[in-house]
Amino acid sequence: MYLKRLEIYGFKSFAEKTVFDFEKGITCVIGPNGTGKSNLVDAILWVLGSQNPRDLRGGKMEDIIFNGTDKRKPLGFTYVTIVLDNADRLIPIDHSEISITRKFYRSGESEFYINNVECRLKDIVDLFTDTGLGKNGYSIIGQGKIEEILNSRPDEKRGLFEEAAGIVKYKNKRYESLKKLDMTQDNLSRLNDIISELY
Ligand code: ATP
Repeated sequence: MYLKRLEIYGFKSFAEKTVFDFEKGITCVIGPNGTGKSNLVDAILWVLGSQNPRDLRGGKMEDIIFNGTDKRKPLGFTYVTIVLDNADRLIPIDHSEISITRKFYRSGESEFYINNVECRLKDIVDLFTDTGLGKNGYSIIGQGKIEEILNSRPDEKRGLFEEAAGIVKYKNKRYESLKKLDMTQDNLSRLNDIISELY
């Protein structure tokens, strides 16, 4: 799996629709300070499901939308699309290319798409769990991330290893099943109360 394409519109400093086509292997993005190199990485993190504006170096989610310059008005929405080569089927969808799109409007509404079919944020997050590419994955190591990992708590470090070992999805499923069991137990207790009131 590798990142083939990145399409950005209205994301941070990218006011115009901008498309990057990447080849297999190493790509370097170079440029003077403050020209938007890190914004590219933020766009990838965001489309993969990041929900924390601080991970995207902002205060609130709205900060990701192009907020205008002396010469340009702010924009009302942003979208980011990534296209991944999935010839190796690392992502469990039977397509050799997978596109993920996330849109966000100033009004606060969001839209999510996998291969142009509307979906939930959870579907995107689930898709990348255990691939290392998810919003908490280790494939994107931003500035200060190494230090953050070294200084993280043991349980946070363990989370990284669990993602690499591919067991996070099973942990999530276990957690959801335990929640359902709890709810069922509550329902059963309520039912027993009602039965004992009736007899
Ligand atoms: P460095 O090499 O210093 O790390 P960089 O090339 O990585 O710089 P970025 O941090 O990606 O630069 O981009 C910073 C620029 O993005 C700043 O000029 C900032 O004003 C601009 N920017 C950030 N958010 C927005 C926004 N919502 N609207 C318009 N511009 C924005």
